[in-house]
Amino acid sequence: MDKFRVIEIKESVFADNNADAAELRNTLKKQGTFLLNLMSSPGSGKTTLLKRTIGELKGEMNIAVLEADIDSDVDARTVSEAGAKAIQLHTGGMCHLTASMTRQGVEEIGLDGIDLAILENVGNLVCPAEFDTGACKNAMILSVPEGDDKPLKYPLMFSICDVLVINKIDVAPYFDFDFEACKERAKKLNPAIEIITLSGKTGEGFGTWTEWLRKSVKEWKSAAGVGDNAFVRYGRK
Ligand code: MG
Ligand code: ZN
Repeated sequence: MDKFRVIEIKESVFADNNADAAELRNTLKKQGTFLLNLMSSPGSGKTTLLKRTIGELKGEMNIAVLEADIDSDVDARTVSEAGAKAIQLHTGGMCHLTASMTRQGVEEIGLDGIDLAILENVGNLVCPAEFDTGACKNAMILSVPEGDDKPLKYPLMFSICDVLVINKIDVAPYFDFDFEACKERAKKLNPAIEIITLSGKTGEGFGTWTEWLRKSVKEWKSAAGVGDNAFVRYGRK
C-alpha cells in the first residue's frame, strides 16, 4: 500500500461543532470503526509512534490514518509505506480540526472495514483541545524534551485526553524531566487520564500503548454491537 490522496478540507462557518461531533461518533459506532484523535506539539514523535503502531497492529486489525497538516504530504507517505490506509488533509492554514473537517476526511478515505482510524491532528497543544473532532477517544503525546511543566501551561489539552503518552523516554538521561511531577500535574487536571511512558524509537514501553489501543477498539466495537466477530484476531499476539 503506497497510494494515498491529498485533499483540501474547509471549515464550515455554519457548523454546530458539538452536534457534528455527536453525529460523526454515531456514524463511527454504526460501522464499528474506533477513531482516535491524536494531538501533540510538532516534533513530539507522532509519526514515528504511528509507524511503529501500524507495524505492530496491522496483522490484527485494519488501520487507517488521517494526517492533518497545513501543508506537505510527508507524514501520509510515511504511514502509507508502513502499511496503513492513509489520507493527507490539508487544512488551508487552519491550526486545528473541527468535526465537520474530520467528517470530510472520513468520507474521502472511506472507513468501511477499518477497525482503527487515527486522526493526526494539527500539531499544537492549544486550539485542537477546544474542538471535539467526533473521535471516540482523545490521545496526546508529550515528549521528554518538551518538559514536565506542560500540564501547567496547557491544562485544557491534558483535561480532555483519555490517554497521555510520554514519548522519547530513551533520551530521558539528557533532560531534567521529572516523570512523577508530570504525572501528578496531569492527574490533578484529569484524574481519569491514563499515562503511558514509552519510546517510539526503541519500542521500550510500547506494549502498554498497543494494549490500550486493542482494548479501546474492542470496547468500542462491543458497545457498537459489532462484538468480537469483526475483530476475530483480537488478543492473538
Ligand atoms: Mg507528523
Ligand atoms: Zn486553531
